[in-house]
This record gives sequence, structure tokens and C-alpha cells, in this order.
Amino acid sequence: MSEVRSMTEIIQGMRQGAQCRTGKSESMRTPPKPPAEKCEFCGQERQCVDTGRRWPKGDIIWDPPEPCDCPGAVEHRLQLKEAERQQREEWERGRHISRVKSLLKESKLPPRYQQAAFENARRTDANKKAYARAFDYCKTIEASIADALDDSKYRYIGYDPEKIITVNRGLFITGPASSGKTHLAGCIVNTLLEREVRCLFGNVLDLLGRVKNTYNNDRAETEDQVIDDLTAVPMLIIDDLGKEKVGSWTEQLLYHIINHRYEHLRPLIVTSNFTLTELEGRYTETGPYIVSRLIEMCDGLKMTGDDWRKGRSR
Ligand SMILES: [Zn+2]
Repeated sequence: MSEVRSMTEIIQGMRQGAQCRTGKSESMRTPPKPPAEKCEFCGQERQCVDTGRRWPKGDIIWDPPEPCDCPGAVEHRLQLKEAERQQREEWERGRHISRVKSLLKESKLPPRYQQAAFENARRTDANKKAYARAFDYCKTIEASIADALDDSKYRYIGYDPEKIITVNRGLFITGPASSGKTHLAGCIVNTLLEREVRCLFGNVLDLLGRVKNTYNNDRAETEDQVIDDLTAVPMLIIDDLGKEKVGSWTEQLLYHIINHRYEHLRPLIVTSNFTLTELEGRYTETGPYIVSRLIEMCDGLKMTGDDWRKGRSR
């Protein structure tokens, strides 16, 4: 009867089922060509493109349609590109501003000099030559950064002037009190910070005081850390050298910092009310050594006479 199927019938049924399943899976393994896309500007149908490559089971790998060349589509793509460029620029501007801000804080440049800039400097006959030379000095550093950035080996490092600052000569700015030496140094610091060069500015009393402070047991910094800081920073500015009380410890420390920077080809900017000859006489132990290092490392800038602050209030 119908409930008792012969072996032949059962095998037949199994074969049919197998054919059915094979048939179904064959049709799934050949996916239809993806539907054409319509250009939203001219309405033209754009077909997907056979890449010529195949999936392991032999199916075609499709590429999306080629972009349409109609004026509307071309214009739209240009707009997208431009928007992307603007977005990148905006992001870069934001990154730069916050980097400069944090470098400014790190530089310890006093608020009085944070706005100092070559553009707003008050030039007099007594200081204009020094300003011009300091300006050229900054240009030289900027050019060396730009050169290095053009060099392909630096592309992988990214924009990091710290690693690529190649100018190792500094400046020795001398002139009487109130001749604007610190302001000039401030102009240089602000210019370099704008190029993202890490700077450390310190009045000689503050710098020495920072080291001295580490001798208190409860200080977070160690003497070595402070000295490392002073010697490793890409640009160190020692303001008012000669203002400190001279003594063996002071002389040794100053010599150590200056000499370390000399040996590591790191530039140094010094301002002082004293000339080099006067400084040499001041440091009785290491005078000649400090001065000979400064001569080798720095170009001299002289700010003569005129007290420009008095000139302004007149
Ligand atoms: Zn189109």
C-alpha cells in the first residue's frame, strides 16, 4: 500500500531531493548583477563594473559604477573635496592653536612678554639693528624647519620641529638695563613657539632657584630632572645672565648647562647687562670657559644706549 514504499521509490525520492537542493544552491552561488545606479544629477544609469576578479567559488567581484562625468556630478564631487579640505584645515588649525598654547605655558615666558612680537616691537635707532638681526635669526630657524619638512625622511616623523631643528647657533644679547633685551628675547620665543619649537625661558635667578629648590626634601623635582630640562629643551633662553650672586656653585652649574648644550649642538639665547669681557671677569672660577663657550655658540647682538621705556613715557 501507499505506506509501504519500495526501496526504488525511496532512492528516487532521495535523488530528487538532492537535485532540488543542488539546484537551489547553484542559483544562490550566481548572484545577479547588482542593480544599476542612477546619477542623481543627469539621471543616467550607471552599471556596476566587473573587476575581472572572482570570489573563491567563481562569482564575479563587482565594483560600484564609475562616477558620472556630467557637469552636475563633477561639480558635486569638487564641492565634497573642498568641504573635506576645509574640515582638515580647521582640524589642523585647532590642533596648532592648542599645541602653541600648551608650549607657551611650558615655556614659562612671563605674561608681560607673551604678546611680544616683531610686528609690534617699538624700534628705535638704538635697537633696530638688533631687532633686524634677531628677526633674521628666526627666519633661519624657520627655513631650516621648512627644509627638513621637505626632506622625505621626515615625513614619517610628522611635523615635529623638535626633532629637526638644525640651527645650533644662538644669540648673546647685551645692552644696558631697560634697553628692551627681554622684549626682544620674547619676540624670538613667540616666533619659535608659533613654529611649534619647544622653548624654555628663564630669568637666571629663577633657573638657579629652581635647581636650588630641589635640595628641599619635599620637592617633586630632582636636581637631575631640572638640569635635564634645561639642557634637553630645543631652545633655552637665559635672561639677565650676570644678575645672580656669583659663587662656586653658581658658576659650576651655569658652566655645566651651557657646556652641555654646546656639546649637544643645542642653541642658547642669553640676555645680559654685561658684555662678555665683563662676564669673564665676574666668574672668577669658570669665567673664561663660560665666555669661550658663549662665543662659540652665540652671535652677539648689542642694544645700545637709549632707554626705550623712558623714551615712551616722555
Ligand atoms: Zn550624471
